[in-house]
Amino acid sequence: MSFDHSGLRAQFPILNAGPGPLHYLDNGASAQTPQAVLDAVLAYETTARANAHRGVHRLAEAATDAYEGARAEVARFLNTPVDEIVFAGGCTAAINLVAHSFGATLKPGDRVLVSELEHHSNIVPWQMLRDRAGIELDALPVTEDGRIDLGALPRLLTERTKLVALAHVSNVTGAALDVPEVAAAARAVGARVLLDGAQRAPHGPLDLPALGVDFYVFSGHKAYGPNGIGVLWARAELLEAMPPFLGGGSMIGRVTLARTTWAPPPRRFEAGTPPIGPAVGLGAACHWMASLDWSAVASHEMSLVQRLLDGLGEVPGARIFGPAGLQRRYPVVSFLLDGVHPHDVAQTLDGFGVAVRAGHHCAQPLMERFDLDGTTRASLAPYNDASDIDALLKGVAHAVRTLR
Ligand code: PLP
Repeated sequence: MSFDHSGLRAQFPILNAGPGPLHYLDNGASAQTPQAVLDAVLAYETTARANAHRGVHRLAEAATDAYEGARAEVARFLNTPVDEIVFAGGCTAAINLVAHSFGATLKPGDRVLVSELEHHSNIVPWQMLRDRAGIELDALPVTEDGRIDLGALPRLLTERTKLVALAHVSNVTGAALDVPEVAAAARAVGARVLLDGAQRAPHGPLDLPALGVDFYVFSGHKAYGPNGIGVLWARAELLEAMPPFLGGGSMIGRVTLARTTWAPPPRRFEAGTPPIGPAVGLGAACHWMASLDWSAVASHEMSLVQRLLDGLGEVPGARIFGPAGLQRRYPVVSFLLDGVHPHDVAQTLDGFGVAVRAGHHCAQPLMERFDLDGTTRASLAPYNDASDIDALLKGVAHAVRTLR
């Protein structure tokens, strides 16, 4: 276990494809993919491509082994039993699965508690459930420094709350949730907890059973894996009690024209031919992540965050939207430049070879709460270095000089 930064960066073909330097700071939208993941997908496609869980020929068995091997890698990364890992199309698909399947166990008047800083994918499925099933939806407010305000829990978490669904790490502010506090408060009223781990999973292995939550979701493409794949983890007894979301092949026990019985989890929730290649890629990404020394990576990433915060602190009219320091935060930094629209900042930065995201970050309620059109966001990965931050700061200085 070690952290050789230039060796790590060299594993990412797109970062070294040239011609000019690529300062990729849009990892919160989609991270880049190391050679090990590309190799694993190519190996599956060229040596084991067939359908999984269906055939008896050797390629079909190789495909099944590759798919189930990927599930085992994900389970190791999350420290969970393998049968508690459900593959879904992504984080959004996984939350929709919970909203349908766990949602089917809720009754009118039951409540789901989210927050004002959630990504739309952790708001809209619950609104759809509310409109479909008559549940009620509450939202925790957000503090001035962009954290979920847990001081509001006693007011908003009631005996009728059945699920608390919150971002583990905000995709806008980088703030990390105080999970033990939420888990204890939810347990006290008998509510389940779902964490949206889209922005946390790319920053190292997790011990989900120890977190004290019930559901966890994330996307492969933000965690150095392929598109079109994501994960839902839930405790076995919860999965067992949930009806399926999608119906079709593979998720059945027995089908007659009169009725159908369900396969046990996780297959109950994986109707149809699964995304085998993407799952193999995600398994390889989890294996790759598990091979890194994350305490070294985290101190590297956070030293870059500090460099960015310090640099922006010297820009007149620059404002950080989110925690001012490094405590309980991940390497996602949103900022504003007075008098310059975030899209114009991002456009200018592109001219400097710097990729960032600008806009509402699929968090319109948060933008509305702070009366913002949007922010400019830099989100980091282990392969970033000081040259990426310095290029961003150079571009910001140029934007201030030319656009104000
Ligand atoms: N949740 C958070 C916190 C995110 O940042 C994102 C994507 O940006 C999502 C959910 C949705 O992920 P996906 O579009 O991969 O389903």
